[in-house]
Amino acid sequence: MKINKNYLKLEENYLFTEIALRTKKFIDENPDKPVIKLGIGDVTLPLSPFVADAMIAAFQELKHKESFRGYGPELGYGFAKNAVKEYYKGYGVDIEMEEITIGDGIGSDIANITDLFAKGENTVLVPDPVYPLYKATSLMDGQKIVYLPCTAENKFVPIPPKDIKADMIYLCSPNNPTGATFTYDQLKAWVDYANSCGAVILYDNAYERFIEDSDKPHSIFEIEGAKTCAMEFGSLSKTAGFTCVRSGYSIVPLSLKDESGLSLNKMWQQRQTTKYNGAPYPQQRGIVAALSEQGMKDADKNISEYKRNGQLIMQALDEKSIFYTGGVNSPYIWFQCPSGLTSWEFFDRMLNEIYVVGTPGVGFGECGEGYFRLSMFNTYELTAEAMQRFRAWKI
Ligand code: PLP
Repeated sequence: MKINKNYLKLEENYLFTEIALRTKKFIDENPDKPVIKLGIGDVTLPLSPFVADAMIAAFQELKHKESFRGYGPELGYGFAKNAVKEYYKGYGVDIEMEEITIGDGIGSDIANITDLFAKGENTVLVPDPVYPLYKATSLMDGQKIVYLPCTAENKFVPIPPKDIKADMIYLCSPNNPTGATFTYDQLKAWVDYANSCGAVILYDNAYERFIEDSDKPHSIFEIEGAKTCAMEFGSLSKTAGFTCVRSGYSIVPLSLKDESGLSLNKMWQQRQTTKYNGAPYPQQRGIVAALSEQGMKDADKNISEYKRNGQLIMQALDEKSIFYTGGVNSPYIWFQCPSGLTSWEFFDRMLNEIYVVGTPGVGFGECGEGYFRLSMFNTYELTAEAMQRFRAWKI
């Protein structure tokens, strides 16, 4: 057997595994210390009853002979794709039904779509810091990675490099972890760059529903020229609390082609119809409910509740005069570790001294060293308690 040795290039411990290990060790050794977790980006509020009921009703259908269903279409039911299409119309974006595929969350779609690209032959641009998946999958595929430093100087927004001809570009807006969100003009610069070098943009907009600013697009397809250079991945995880349910969608435009004219949409359909048997029926009913007017009203209510937690975190950072960003268009607050501490030093001190868990910035890339991420995903009471400890902390 010949294994894929590129796996040896991956880091020993995935960021969140290391956090979990250190946290468990602390809790085991200090069972009396009340630990509060503001680390992992997982939702905490329950599903909208309206959305949950739609999924329950779908399961109920499966109990009866007349409404039972077997395998569904691999690329998603028409009713779910139509819900996505209608949702995009709300942002003034026209998407064809054949451009949409329904999946079980975008972590898998973003990883699986790399099947379309020649292994070891692509130059891939990856922002630094960013959600670790893009780097990991590029390493697994033996691609050449060029990092795009995102620092306080460029307000954590990556800009197209003048001297590099890229093949693949990962963009995440609003960015996890920094919360930096492209303006229309900044994203247009990327679309123009990608079109000029024949590159594809893999656009992750998992947090688009958190966007508040009116000068920030909710989809890359709001930008002229994007349909010839970009694919987009939308998740219901953070929008509608679907991290457990698992649901998302991908949009691969019909006009997205390689230099010889091969359609990436067709390749993605070939890939999914071969290697995937379709997202579960109840989840797809869940998508329809979540993207409906009522579903979105409920989602927005939860998002404002999370943002109330964010206010508490930002007030505490303001009081301590700590530099931070994010928190407005995203559920994450990204701040500079005080006293010149490294990300992991700060992690250990915060855990040991005030029993609060966060995420070390360096886990998202080298440029994240010296930074830290706190998330709004917790209850108001626990966030308030954590921030009370934080304010009283001598660091
Ligand atoms: N993309 C980003 C930027 C994320 O932060 C996450 C999850 O935290 C995902 C994708 C994964 O989304 P899903 O739950 O749809 O797989």
